[in-house]
Amino acid sequence: MRVQNHQTFAGKARRRLAACAAFLAVVVGGGVVSAAPAVALTAPATAVPATANPLPSADPIGNPASFSVLVNKSRPLNPASYAPNDLINARGSGQYMRAEAAAWLNGLFQGAADAGTGGLSIVSGYRSYEQQQQVYSYYVSIYGQAYADTISARPGYSEHQTGLAMDIGNAAGNCGLSTCFGDTAAGQWVAANAHKYGFIVRYPNGYTATTGYSYEPWHLRYVGVDLATDMNRRGFATLEQYFAGNTAAAASIKSGADLVAADASGRLLRYPATAVGGYANAVQIGSGWTGLKQAFVVDWDIDGVYDILAQWNNGVLGVYRGLPGGGFAGQVVVGNGGWDRMTITVGKWTHADGRPGVVGYFPDGVLRYYPNTFGGALSAPQFIGTGWNGMELTIADWEGDGANDILARTATGSLINYRGDGWAGFYGPATTVGTGWQYMRVLVPSFGLTGAGTRGITAQTVDGNLYNYGLGRGQWTTYSQVGYGWNSLSLFR
Ligand SMILES: [Zn+2]
Repeated sequence: MRVQNHQTFAGKARRRLAACAAFLAVVVGGGVVSAAPAVALTAPATAVPATANPLPSADPIGNPASFSVLVNKSRPLNPASYAPNDLINARGSGQYMRAEAAAWLNGLFQGAADAGTGGLSIVSGYRSYEQQQQVYSYYVSIYGQAYADTISARPGYSEHQTGLAMDIGNAAGNCGLSTCFGDTAAGQWVAANAHKYGFIVRYPNGYTATTGYSYEPWHLRYVGVDLATDMNRRGFATLEQYFAGNTAAAASIKSGADLVAADASGRLLRYPATAVGGYANAVQIGSGWTGLKQAFVVDWDIDGVYDILAQWNNGVLGVYRGLPGGGFAGQVVVGNGGWDRMTITVGKWTHADGRPGVVGYFPDGVLRYYPNTFGGALSAPQFIGTGWNGMELTIADWEGDGANDILARTATGSLINYRGDGWAGFYGPATTVGTGWQYMRVLVPSFGLTGAGTRGITAQTVDGNLYNYGLGRGQWTTYSQVGYGWNSLSLFR
C-alpha cells in the first residue's frame, strides 16, 4: 500500500515541477543544494522566551472576581462572603452591577431598543451574602427547603452575589420574572444577541439538570464578549458544559478564530475574534518573543489546546505547548539546525497522520513533508516535489474536501492552489485562485471567524491592513476588511 503510494508520488512530483515552472517562468534546477534540516532527538533549548499568563491564577473559573467565574449549587463563591468592589448603579435603576458589566448592559439595552423589540427593563441585580440569606430564608419559610432550592440560591451560591448577574424584563412590564418573557420580542432578541454584548442567558430552557435551575429567560450573566462569543460559536448552552467540555476555555489561545502576534518588543499578543467577524483589543499572553523568523498557531499534540510552533532565526524549530489553565510550557525543540533557511507551512498533510506536520523547502526548492508522528520531534522528511523556489506556502483546504491543499503565492502575486490528495502527494492540475497577492505580507488560516464551521484566510497587507477572505468549496465566499494599523505586528500563521 505504502509502496504503491510512493510510486504515485513520484509521478505527481514530476507533474508538479512542470506546473510550477510554468507559473514562475524561471529556470528550475542548478540552485543551491542544501542538506535537509536535522530532526532533533534531544531538546537543548537555545532561545527560550519567557511566557506569561495575564489571566488571574491557574484557575480563573474559581476566582470570584473573574468575569468567567463559575458559580452554581455545587460551586459556591470562594470566599462565600465575597463582595465586588466596583459596583455601580446600573442605568440609574437602583440595582447594582460591576462597572464593566453595567457598561455592556447599556449596549444591550440600546441594541434591544434599536431592534424594535419595545425595549428592556431592569428588575434585580447585585445581592450581598446577607441579602441573599434573607431571600433564601423567605422562600424556605413559605415553600420549605426542597422547593426553595429550585427557585433560589443559598447565600454564597448566587450569581447575583458576583455583581455579574442582572434579571431583566420587558419595558412594558409584562411577563416579569416569568418564562413567558422568553416568548416576547425582547426576550427572543436577548436570547439571540446577548453574547454580542458579553452576556449569556444563564439558565436556558431544557438544562435544569445541568445548571440546577429552572428555565429563567430573564437572568443574564456577564462573562465578557470573548467568552460569550466563543460559547456561541462552539454551541455551548451553559457555562457548566463550556468549562467541562472545552479544555481550551482558560488557555491563552482559545480559538482558531483568534489572531496571535508578536510586537516589536517581543510581547506575545492574542486578538480575540469578535461576534461580528473581526478582532477585539489585544490580551498579552507572553513576552520575550523576539528573534522569530515565523511562528504558527497549531494544536501540535492534539490535546485540544492550541500550541505555538516557533521558527527561530537561529535555526531552531520549537513547540511551546499551550496549557489548559493558561500560559505555555517551555520549548520542546522539534527540529534543529537550518530551519531559518526554510520556507514552511504547518497543517495536517495526510489522512494517515492525526497530527499537523510541516511542509517546506530549502533554497533548493525541493518540497519536503516532515511528519509529526508523536506530537513532539518531527520524523524524517518525505520528498514531495521540486521547483518550489520563491513560493510562500499556506496549507488550507481550498476544495473543502477534507484533504488539505497548498496555497502557494508566487513572487509576482499569483495565488495558486496545489490540490493535496490526502496522502502526502498532489492531485490534478494546479489552478490560479488569486492575483495581486504580492501586496500581502502574511496569510493566516482562520477557523470560525464568521460563524461556526466557517473557514477563511486573514491576510495582512504590506501597509498594515487586515482582510478576511472566506473559503467555500473551491471558491472564495466572503471578503471584508477586519483591521488596519497592524504594520508593527508579526502575525502568527
Ligand atoms: Zn436572577
